[in-house]
Amino acid sequence: MMTNYETYRLNFEKEVQPLIKEMEAYAEKQFIPIMDRIGIETFISLLTIQKPTTLLEIGSAIGYSAIRLAQADSQLHIATIERDEERHAKAVHYIERAKLNDRISLFKDDALTLDTTSLPFACFDACFIDAAKGQYKRFFEKYEPLVKTGGIIYCDNMFMHGLVFLEDQEVPKRSRTMIRNLKAFTKWIMDNPEYETSLLPVGDGILIARKN
Ligand code: SAH
Ligand code: MG
Repeated sequence: MMTNYETYRLNFEKEVQPLIKEMEAYAEKQFIPIMDRIGIETFISLLTIQKPTTLLEIGSAIGYSAIRLAQADSQLHIATIERDEERHAKAVHYIERAKLNDRISLFKDDALTLDTTSLPFACFDACFIDAAKGQYKRFFEKYEPLVKTGGIIYCDNMFMHGLVFLEDQEVPKRSRTMIRNLKAFTKWIMDNPEYETSLLPVGDGILIARKN
């Protein structure tokens, strides 16, 4: 007789893990910036504490984070938005192979112009912002009304691989505006009394903002 844990582990090794590994290899080869292992495992743990049943993701890329999160919690429903045609197509493909079509809804659109009434829920327990780093404030302002009171907005890549710790003139010119915006967003949300915010120095920096 196998224990639940053994069944889970065997299933993970045989079915889940190969797909996840394949996605990680694809992302590395194509330079697609999916969450790293430590970041995603930490994020899964945070969601285990929060226990959202609905999550809105801005920036699906190939569906890696959405799939990992949905696999970790069988009650979780995710709506996720990706504007890039090729990445969206890959996400469709992987989500189908992960058999998660019933719990992950993909939208091929620019999150800044998407009509939010087309989303499957009017209100979300959690929002995960992981798209263009220079636009975080705009994503936040557009999507925070969809997050319920007590809900949490998470943002990835708050450190931008260390670029946010450099002086402005040390930041490569092509990244300067993006980093300025990201720093301004960080200060703005940290000082925002409507949110209780902390910055977890794990992975590439995960911001956790709880709506009061
Ligand atoms: N969350 C994914 C990684 C996302 S990478 C994971 O960890 O697996 C960021 C993605 O955001 C890119 O694929 C990019 O095309 C997308 N993106 C950037 N700006 C966007 C926008 N305005 N609307 C929708 N997607 C956007
Ligand atoms: Mg990211």
